[in-house]
Amino acid sequence: MLTHPLVLRLQPDEHPVGSRDLLLFAPAAAAGVDYASAAGCGNRPLALTPASAEQTRRYRRNGSLPYAAVNRTPPLEVRRELRREVGFGCPVDGCGSPYLTWHHFDPPWNEHQHHDVAGMVALCREHHDKADAGAFTREQLRQLKTKRADRVAGRFDWMRQDLLLVVGGNFYYRTPVPVQFRGDPVVSTTRDEEGQLLVSLGMLTTSSESRLRMTENFWISEGRPSDLECPPSGRRIAVTYGNGDLLSIEFSGVSEPAELGTRYPDASPERWQLTYPVMTVEVRMRVGGTPLEFGPTQTTLPGNNMMRGCFAADCAVGLAFG
Ligand SMILES: [Zn+2]
Repeated sequence: MLTHPLVLRLQPDEHPVGSRDLLLFAPAAAAGVDYASAAGCGNRPLALTPASAEQTRRYRRNGSLPYAAVNRTPPLEVRRELRREVGFGCPVDGCGSPYLTWHHFDPPWNEHQHHDVAGMVALCREHHDKADAGAFTREQLRQLKTKRADRVAGRFDWMRQDLLLVVGGNFYYRTPVPVQFRGDPVVSTTRDEEGQLLVSLGMLTTSSESRLRMTENFWISEGRPSDLECPPSGRRIAVTYGNGDLLSIEFSGVSEPAELGTRYPDASPERWQLTYPVMTVEVRMRVGGTPLEFGPTQTTLPGNNMMRGCFAADCAVGLAFG
């Protein structure tokens, strides 16, 4: 029996439950005594506390730790299903935040580690914390799983004086319109009053349905995405549609040229006049039913034209086509 609770402090990005716990629990379990359960997640302390009577009973019945290998982050498919059932936004009335987290409520995580969709609901960080504190009953949480956010929108906060746009494997710096189609910007930047660059994007599509669009860092999801992923860090969104349309945007900081070269093998940062640290904005886009794609490493244009590793700086327009 543990006589004192153990307390571990984990980094915010670490997920506390998994093999780490198995190592901690194994000696107690092997000795045939009660085992400990884990409570807490994310950037909160992980407290190891003595097992409840129910947990002890379950352990003795199963003869093994029932959740030893379960990580608190649900598998991809479970996350996708949880996002989809709430319409890609927090289902609490008046919220709709797209920055979703995964709440285990039936049974709660500290009673049994599981990733059963029926006992989980996608909530924003704020409502997840409230749910953890007991703000909602199980019945209310089950009800929330049937609601869909009315309006799903968000904003990128990652503002800098300069941005390196990485669109379809090509690089655009101090170029207000990196990509233009038939005279209209597809990817563009503008400066706010403080000189910070803001990004606007319009999805190219052959569908008549609405698509996600972003104007000066504010984005709104319209139409019917098949998936919309938007981690609470707010550094990335990725949206897909049934006809194969795809858009993803991701902001990340780069501190020196070598880092840029490692991330993008086709880049030649030693020849580019960039000011470091630099914020990159990586944009990928696929237009369903057409060969047009701004992929991870190259741009594919109709007529089997491909471009990769090109660098445009101080141009009005980087790539114009159509
Ligand atoms: Zn919420």
